Amino acid sequence: MATARARTDSAPTPMMAQYLTLKAETEGCLLFYRMGDFFELFFDDAKIAAQCLDIALTARGEHEGEPIPMCGVPIHAAESYLARLIKAGHRVAIAEQTESPAEARKRGSKSVVNRAIVRVVTAGTLTEEALLDSRAANWLAAVARTGERYGLAAADISTGRFELSSVPAASLDAELARLAAAEIIAAEPLPGAQERRTGFDSLAAERRLKERFAVATLDGFGQFDRAALCAAGGLLAYLDEVARESLPFLRPPVSRSAGDHMMIDAATRESLELTISASGTRAGSLLACVDRTVTGAGARLLAADLGAPLLERLRIEARLDLVGLFERDPGLREWARRQLRALPDIGRSLGRLAAGRGGPRDLAQLRDGLSEARRLHDRLAEIVDPPVLLAGLLPCLTGHGALVDLLSRALVPSPPLDAAQGGYIAEGFDSALDALRATGGEGRRAIAALEARYRDQTGISVLKIRHNAVLGYHIEVPARHADRLMAAESGFTHRQTLAGVVRFNAPDLHEQAMRVTQAGSHALAAEAEHLALLVAEALGRAEAIAAAADSLARLDVAAGLAERAVEGGWTRPRLVDDNRFEIEGGRHPVVEDAVRGAGGRFVANDCRLLEDSRLWLVTGPNMGGKSTFLRQNALIAVLAQAGAYVPAVSATLGLVDRLFSRVGASDNLARGRSTFMVEMVETAAILAQASPRSFVILDEVGRGTSTYDGLAIAWAVVEAIHDKSRCRCLFATHYHELTRLAERLDALTLHHVRAREWKGELVLLHELAPGPADRSYGIAVAKLAGMPPDVLARARSVLAKLEEGRAATGGIAAGLDDLPLFAAAAREEPQADALHVALAEVEPDSLSPREALETLYRLKRLQAEEGL
Ligand code: ATP
Repeated sequence: MATARARTDSAPTPMMAQYLTLKAETEGCLLFYRMGDFFELFFDDAKIAAQCLDIALTARGEHEGEPIPMCGVPIHAAESYLARLIKAGHRVAIAEQTESPAEARKRGSKSVVNRAIVRVVTAGTLTEEALLDSRAANWLAAVARTGERYGLAAADISTGRFELSSVPAASLDAELARLAAAEIIAAEPLPGAQERRTGFDSLAAERRLKERFAVATLDGFGQFDRAALCAAGGLLAYLDEVARESLPFLRPPVSRSAGDHMMIDAATRESLELTISASGTRAGSLLACVDRTVTGAGARLLAADLGAPLLERLRIEARLDLVGLFERDPGLREWARRQLRALPDIGRSLGRLAAGRGGPRDLAQLRDGLSEARRLHDRLAEIVDPPVLLAGLLPCLTGHGALVDLLSRALVPSPPLDAAQGGYIAEGFDSALDALRATGGEGRRAIAALEARYRDQTGISVLKIRHNAVLGYHIEVPARHADRLMAAESGFTHRQTLAGVVRFNAPDLHEQAMRVTQAGSHALAAEAEHLALLVAEALGRAEAIAAAADSLARLDVAAGLAERAVEGGWTRPRLVDDNRFEIEGGRHPVVEDAVRGAGGRFVANDCRLLEDSRLWLVTGPNMGGKSTFLRQNALIAVLAQAGAYVPAVSATLGLVDRLFSRVGASDNLARGRSTFMVEMVETAAILAQASPRSFVILDEVGRGTSTYDGLAIAWAVVEAIHDKSRCRCLFATHYHELTRLAERLDALTLHHVRAREWKGELVLLHELAPGPADRSYGIAVAKLAGMPPDVLARARSVLAKLEEGRAATGGIAAGLDDLPLFAAAAREEPQADALHVALAEVEPDSLSPREALETLYRLKRLQAEEGL
């Protein structure tokens, strides 16, 4: 009996039963359950959300004998709470009420309002302005493998961008790093991705894509292999699942191939700080340093350009020509940038409208953006002999006249974000709507007149006519005057008594109120109808609008790069067909800004990698500028192939197919990332992948292990790069022993960053000079760093001993065994053995206490003789 009762108690309430069904439908998501003006969360969801959002955790009712944890967020502020949950890595399912409480009551007084999941909000499927970073793309990526190839489908549904590609396993990491997707789904386990088993079906995907874009074949969009289509299938299935009724915006797929752009793997992107700095922020990255765009779309395109520098000379030259146009004509540049600055983000407005989440303001943005596009077109079309790229962009900026005209007539100048309150359709657009508004207006004036009349009639000067959502229009008087209106003959009917005030209705007020509300709701419906038609009209031109948005972004990028070039005295790179890399007066743009900011001067350096000097070994003191020099050259390659001017006096380079940057373990330890093992794995990957067209910078590779191992590895790596990879390479090292390699390796040349000791102080010149460094100045740098004097003195004496040892062996040999450093170490070994031998001879059990003491003294003497 007792158990039976317990079971009855634990049966969930009808509402809880509905909740649990919805919850089971959306595994892995937090469930936002709509209750009136709140989204409520229950059970573990509530605990997670309360902690993440810092809101109160309460309880409601019981489930299986336990109170149900609960927390909630008000609807009007839901977006900002959502943003925080998504940022923290959660996915949120939204359960909306799909009928009104009144409708539910019709089915029975205890019926629960019907609810359904209308959308799953995930990091990769956002469209809301408030949840997105306006200057960054927001990719959702799907990965599938067939045989040796990985298919990659990527969609940014905030702008409709949709790319398909298939890459060999070795390039997957680089492609994912390029996209930096907000969310990744994969058909099999993959680090950082959610695993999804279903939907990765190439045939179904092909069918759906053809249907969706109304084409008989996908050939017009490019070539897509089975791997790419499989990934597309997974992506579409996932979008169905999260977007529910409203299908998100996708433009026709663009076929991408890994051969379209310079391959840059994740470790290289990170080490060069291309789009994110070492501290994890945009500030301090190459992107932030170069970015002078004035629109969100321009910033997004620039980030994409820097992330995928081109490999086709003609396309690069076309971009450079456009930058050149703006660089040479300051008046044009300033004018264009001023016009662009005022431009709304029409790509994202279009994305929201297409996803069914747009509003009147999005339409107004299309109106303003497209008419601005027209103005830009008219001025740019006057340019005589325009660059090819510009000639290609111009047609996309016009042809929107009819839509702009319609939207201009239909909408008020600055309509509200949300359609709910109406008021966005302009006067004069629809005479029936105008008439409804007039009726409403008359009603409201009549009500205002009634207020005056009622005051006269009752003699209550503080009588007011008010409006709220529950009572509609009503009369309100302070409680002390209420009696007068309560009287039956007064003509007023009592509605509500609150603390301090009493509310009434009256027949003529009721009549006018009906007029106002009816006219209001009819007007609202009429506006909504217009809105739907206008949205359909705009979406009918979605592709043309998206093309206009792309063209405006390209103009912004070019004008911004020109602005940056002028600001920094940058130069147009010259691209050649051989594998030359000749930079005169090159600078590191980020370090240069930092050095200048601190009142210093950045020292420009040349870099000349030619067929007979394609491998530069760079030595010199710590802090001398080796890393800066290496990176600045890699960055110049990225900028040049992205179609930007470069920070140098002149730059001539053959296209780089793959770029690699590796930093020795010790340089990265602070970030807790690069262990020696990782460094070796990555170096192995370079040796496997680099071609003669690649550009490699290696910064103190081999430093993360013992001296001999590290030197030996660095030695072998330099040889392999020289003999096998034959790529262009800058190799910075502290192992001076490596400079001996110059005698054997034809294409290796020696360089050092200059330093001088002046009156006992170290002066770093940051200037590159030919030949090896004379010494390493490590102790002088330690002194600069404030190392205690006694430690410095001891270090000097140890160094002197080591150098004595080095000098004693003399001679230069090519074999590792004969290297002076190794020989010096070997010379010490017999002495260490003497101590060991003596120790081995000791038999503690056979010693008297006095003999034991003497033995101990003898061993200490031996140790002292050994010297170090
Ligand atoms: P380590 O061997 O300790 O890694 P490094 O030789 O690689 O040192 P960098 O890290 O490149 O030295 O440079 C150290 C600092 O010197 C930079 O942060 C910058 O402030 C300054 N510096 C480097 N190059 C230049 C330059 N060309 N002109 C002016 N200042 C420079």
